[in-house]
Amino acid sequence: MGIVNRAVFSDFDGTITAQESFVRVLETFAPEASGLLIPKMYDLSLSLREGVRLLLESIESRHYPEMLDSVRRTPLRPGFEEFLSFLEARGIPFVIVTGGITAFVRATLGPLEKRVNGIYGADLDTGGRMLKLHSDWEAGSELVSKPLVLETVRKTFPVDLPVAIGDSVTDLEMALACPVVFARDRLAGYLDQRGRSYYRYEDFVDIRRTFQKEILA
Ligand SMILES: [Mg+2]
Repeated sequence: MGIVNRAVFSDFDGTITAQESFVRVLETFAPEASGLLIPKMYDLSLSLREGVRLLLESIESRHYPEMLDSVRRTPLRPGFEEFLSFLEARGIPFVIVTGGITAFVRATLGPLEKRVNGIYGADLDTGGRMLKLHSDWEAGSELVSKPLVLETVRKTFPVDLPVAIGDSVTDLEMALACPVVFARDRLAGYLDQRGRSYYRYEDFVDIRRTFQKEILA
């Protein structure tokens, strides 16, 4: 038996960050539209693909630097940097798959950005008067189809054992496509309903400990 190629695919908001920074940015910079549209996205009468686009494209580009400043202050879950070191030492790639904006992820991570193997999500064009949203990963009702990212990344380097980390409904399809899953919050509930097993976590200290014990064993 040869080497097993493991790779970690992680959500960003509420998973790497301790809070939902993307929703907070939308509520801050598009307060009226957020009040109207966010409840519709939660009750599923409006898709994330349409709702997030309507919200972001209602914001003037001149606010973009303030938006970046606002996400820069988002705290990360404990143990994140140590988990990256742990994976680096073992040659295991760590890929971020966000349903939000890649530039917001980069701003939040700061120098840690250089230590992840990829950041996939939607992008903002700030050249016009209003922000314009682009995503290479749109599919069905999703702005960023995480299974589509997973499939694409797996073509660029070999992955025998993909590991998913997430916290919410937008991570469900990615989690179902991975044999090993770390879940918390709503994602854990959805997996319970489907009888799928997963490792529960609160932070990256938990994840590193379980990874060492169960996944590298
Ligand atoms: Mg999340």
